Amino acid sequence: MSSSIKVVDSHSHISQVESQDIETLDDYNQQFKYGMGYQDNLNLMDQLGIDMQVLHCSGYLGKYHKRVLKEYPDRFAAIGKIDERLLPGEEGLEALKAQVDEFGFHGIYYDPWHPENAKAQGADPAEWGSPHPFFHFDDKRFDPQWKLIEELKVPVAITVYNDNLEIICPMLLNVIDKFPNIVIVLMHGLAPPLTAPIPPGNFTSSQIFDSKGNVQLPPGAIEIAKRNVYHEIMPGMDGLRSQPSRYGENDQAIKVFYDTFGPDKLMWGSEFTSIQLPILKQYKYQFDYMKERCDYMTTSDLEMIMGGTACKAYNL
Ligand SMILES: [Zn+2]
Repeated sequence: MSSSIKVVDSHSHISQVESQDIETLDDYNQQFKYGMGYQDNLNLMDQLGIDMQVLHCSGYLGKYHKRVLKEYPDRFAAIGKIDERLLPGEEGLEALKAQVDEFGFHGIYYDPWHPENAKAQGADPAEWGSPHPFFHFDDKRFDPQWKLIEELKVPVAITVYNDNLEIICPMLLNVIDKFPNIVIVLMHGLAPPLTAPIPPGNFTSSQIFDSKGNVQLPPGAIEIAKRNVYHEIMPGMDGLRSQPSRYGENDQAIKVFYDTFGPDKLMWGSEFTSIQLPILKQYKYQFDYMKERCDYMTTSDLEMIMGGTACKAYNL
C-alpha cells in the first residue's frame, strides 16, 4: 500500500524459545508449541508488505517476546500475559505492571479459564477464587486490576468463547462504567469458532446465527460498540481448520460487525504462525480476504481494518 498508514496483523504468534531466553525451569515448557520462530514471521510479513505484527504471548514466552521486541521494535508489538490466578492479588498486580513497564508490551491478555477448561487442564477451578472471574470479572473483587490497567493506558484483550458470548458485553459494560478510560479488545471478536457438534457436557451452544443463518448479535453488542472497545476479525482462517466459517457461509457476520463497530474499531488478525499451514499462500489468502470479498469496504476502510485501527488501539 502506498499510504502512510501501517499494515498491521493484530493477532499473531511466535514461540521458538532459544537457549538465551531460558533461566529457570519455569521458562521452558517442552510441550508448548504456539507458532514458529520470529524469522519465519518476518519472512512472511516481508513478502506481503505487512509492517507489524501484534504478538499474543503466553506467560511461558514472555522473555523471548521481550528480546524480539527489543531487536525489532518497528516490526513487532506484544500483548503480555500473566497467570490470572494471581489476580486481583498484589503479586498479580505487580506482574501486570511489569508486563508494560519492564517488558515493554503494548497490552494485557486476560483469559481466566472456564472452570471446566481448568479441570481439563488438571487445575482446580477454586484457584481462580470466588466469585469466579470467567463469569464475574465485573465483580468489585476485581476492581483493583481494572483500575491498574486503566492507569497503565494499555488495552486489555479479553477472549470471547461460546460459553461467555451471552454475558461478555454486559460484564464489560459494568467494568467500563466503573473505569471509563479503560480500553478493551475483544479477542477473536464476538464470533467464537462454530463448533458443530457442540462438545458434550459443559459448553453451551450460544452462537451468533439463528436457524436461518441470520446474525444475532449477543446482548450488549450494540452498546459496547460505542465505547472504547475494539473488535478483532480473522477472516479466512476456519477453512484450513476444516471448520465452518465463524462468519457464516456468505460472510454475513463480517458485514454485521462492519456496520456495528465500523472500520475504526475493527482490526484484522491472522493467528500466524500458530496455524496449521503457516505458509505464504495461506497468509496471503487471509490477508486478501476482505479486499477481495467485501466490496462495501472502501480503500480507507481497509486501511483502518488492516492496520490503522490497531495502531490507534495499541499506540503503535
Ligand atoms: Zn491466537
